[in-house]
Amino acid sequence: MSYVKGLKCRECGKGYPKEALHVCELCFGPLEVDYNYEKIKKDVTRETIAKRPPNMWRYKELLPIDGEPAVGFDTGFTPLVRARNLEKALGVKELYLKNDAVNHPTLSFKDRVVAVAISKAREFGFKVIACASTGNLANSVAANAAACGMESYVFIPSDLEQTKIIATLVYGTNVIGIKGNYDEVNRLCSEISGKYGWAFVNINIRPYYAEGSKAFGYEIVEQLGWKAPKHIIVPMAGGSLITKIWKAFNEFQKIGLIDKMDTKVYGAQATGCAPIVTAVKEGTELIRPVKPKTIAKSLAIGNPADGYYSAKVMRDSNGWGEDVSDEEIIDAMKLLAETEGIFAETAGGVTLGVTKKLIEQGRIPKNESIVVSITGNGLKTQEALQDKIGAPRIINARLSDFDELVAKEGKVYAVKAGNRQ
Ligand SMILES: *Cc1c(COP(=O)(O)O)cnc(C)c1O
Ligand SMILES: [Zn+2]
Repeated sequence: MSYVKGLKCRECGKGYPKEALHVCELCFGPLEVDYNYEKIKKDVTRETIAKRPPNMWRYKELLPIDGEPAVGFDTGFTPLVRARNLEKALGVKELYLKNDAVNHPTLSFKDRVVAVAISKAREFGFKVIACASTGNLANSVAANAAACGMESYVFIPSDLEQTKIIATLVYGTNVIGIKGNYDEVNRLCSEISGKYGWAFVNINIRPYYAEGSKAFGYEIVEQLGWKAPKHIIVPMAGGSLITKIWKAFNEFQKIGLIDKMDTKVYGAQATGCAPIVTAVKEGTELIRPVKPKTIAKSLAIGNPADGYYSAKVMRDSNGWGEDVSDEEIIDAMKLLAETEGIFAETAGGVTLGVTKKLIEQGRIPKNESIVVSITGNGLKTQEALQDKIGAPRIINARLSDFDELVAKEGKVYAVKAGNRQ
């Protein structure tokens, strides 16, 4: 039984059937999945959801799959960590980390969108799954395609982090490195998608794919005891995740799973690629494309597909947008690791760095609930920390060598990495 009515243009409202379509033929607006909310409201309660297995499909009525999902049975329901040490460090009362750095199977929130995209592509009968990626999507498409026996093609900028390339190749996918940035990769993929009959998860399957991000938002609400937070900070690349978290909170309110929702949504970008944040700060609806230059490669999209809509979410929710430098990104990655024991990727540094800034600016008050979105794992972007976190102190395998080291450094447990004499 499906709760999806079809697709609908976000701009002019024209309806379309459930097919592999993504732009409106009348106005070129993006298409979005249209649900039967009255029916969902009747059939779905907190109790029905709570009884289901702890994965993203516990919200299946609000995800655009007609039959059984093909993948993602262990994806989602990642920890919402109460960050007491970070609260102290930032001087705030109630702060949580939604930690998709440990999402299954490829350690980023992209496993959510890919689970929906691949399941839908298989319903449509596609044999080959493909994507244009800044890294994490490549990992996830390759892994999930392998898990359900589909052939996959992955297109990436050729200068991506080594780990992200290795963590794609290992699954036996076809990896194509393009000499160019993500925006150029994406343009090429639009052409390939039109010519080859493949399911490109973030092009012709995009309306379905993007819906997978909503589970990130549903989980936060459920894990807070069926309450939306007062403030949430979200990293932005193409700007899809932030719009879908906002949609998730609004849907839960619409179908009566939460009473009130007055969440303010804040978008985070790196200063070296901040087209959406710039538009928000300047108060314009126009997103001016930029040429990305930042260590936060997973967020390095200079011409964001959902830029306009993500800026609107920040406006409509009375939130804001902020950006941080590469140095601030690294500082925030270290702060997160040292206070909470969580190693996030550069995107996590962007999000926490922006959170810190917004608190210091007084835009986020210190006594209200805050959720910081951690979307990817630090083991995949190790290059960014090269020479920034000190090095092990090397000694011979002799107790006297260690004694000498202790004597030289004083209390060894109080010595911070990086203070090497
Ligand atoms: C892709 C990605 C994002 C942003 O996703 P959009 O929906 O394109 O804005 C955030 N964090 C990480 C780690 C990502 O890989
Ligand atoms: Zn339209």
